[in-house]
This record gives sequence, structure tokens and C-alpha cells, in this order.
Amino acid sequence: MGAIVAIVGRPNVGKSTFFNRMLQRREAIVDATSGVTRDRHYGKSDWNGKEFSLIDTGGYVVGSDDVFEEAIDQQVNLAIDEADAILFMVDVETGVTGMDEDVAKLLRKVDKPVFLVVNKVDNAKRSEDAVEFYSLGLGEYYTISSINGSGTGELLDALVEVL
Ligand code: GDP
Ligand code: MG
Repeated sequence: MGAIVAIVGRPNVGKSTFFNRMLQRREAIVDATSGVTRDRHYGKSDWNGKEFSLIDTGGYVVGSDDVFEEAIDQQVNLAIDEADAILFMVDVETGVTGMDEDVAKLLRKVDKPVFLVVNKVDNAKRSEDAVEFYSLGLGEYYTISSINGSGTGELLDALVEVL
């Protein structure tokens, strides 16, 4: 059993898009051989030859568009317990939200590597907008676009360093 990496964050920040991107190649193989459903929330991935399990924690929340604070807390606490590293995803399109601040508060107490991931940074302009996420008190962040893949290499390089 390799390392476990959990993706946490409020709904619609792009957790599943990133998760699917990471699993794409393996997922395709699985689909072709056994017809396994595509909406998995747990799967294997690898980077630079290092394998790890990835959890899309949104999968634990029913009706993820209408999440209660309690469910988010549960999601984050589960990740804290089970994961070796946590990717905390936020969304540059919406900026910092109250729910982001609640999650950040929980994660600031965690004694495991936490990577603040600012998603939807599809272009350079959005990269500048990301500075507001320093206010979450988690230090440096990684800017990525789960859709076009930019920035994901740097993030994954740093991630596998700690696994
Ligand atoms: P989740 O609820 O956190 O799992 O978010 P989803 O992965 O379902 O994505 C929510 C919405 O954000 C979808 O419409 C995605 O297409 C969109 N999205 C995800 N990643 C990006 C990105 O990097 N850039 C842009 N522009 N949109 C994105
Ligand atoms: Mg999702």
C-alpha cells in the first residue's frame, strides 16, 4: 500500500476534474477491460515513477452542490486521518470564500503536508489574482489549471517529494 493523497475543498473548485486528469490513463485501461464506472473517487496515480493513491473526497458528500459545513468538516477530518498528504483546492474564479476559510482553519492544525492548490488559473492574469489566497494562512500556494494542465507538473514534483 503506497502513500495516500486526499483532495479536499468546497464543491465546484475542480477537485474531480483534477482527479480525473490524474487517473485518465489508468482509468481508460480499467474501463476497457472491466467496464468499471467512471465516477470513481479513489484510484491509483503516479508521478516521476512514484505511485500513490488519490482520493477525491467530494465523493463522500451527497449532493455536493449543496454541502453543509458539517459535511465539509467530515470530509476534511477523514482526509486528515487517512492521508499522508493533502491537496487543499480553491478556485481563483470565485476567490476566497467563507467555506475556504473554514477548511483552512482545520488544515492549519494538521501535522501533515498540506498543499494549497489554486485551481482555474488558466492564464497569466489569473495567476496575479491568486495572491489573495495568502490570506488563508497556509503560506505558499501552487497555481494550476485542471483543464489545460498548466502548473500541475510543479505541484506534482513537490507532492511526490514528501511522499
Ligand atoms: P468539484 O465539485 O470540486 O469536484 O469540481 P468539478 O471538478 O466538478 O468542477 C467544477 C466546474 O469547474 C466544472 O464546470 C469544471 O469544468 C470547472 N473547472 C475545473 N477545473 C477548471 C480549470 O482549471 N479551469 C476552468 N476554467 N474551469 C475548471
Ligand atoms: Mg467533484
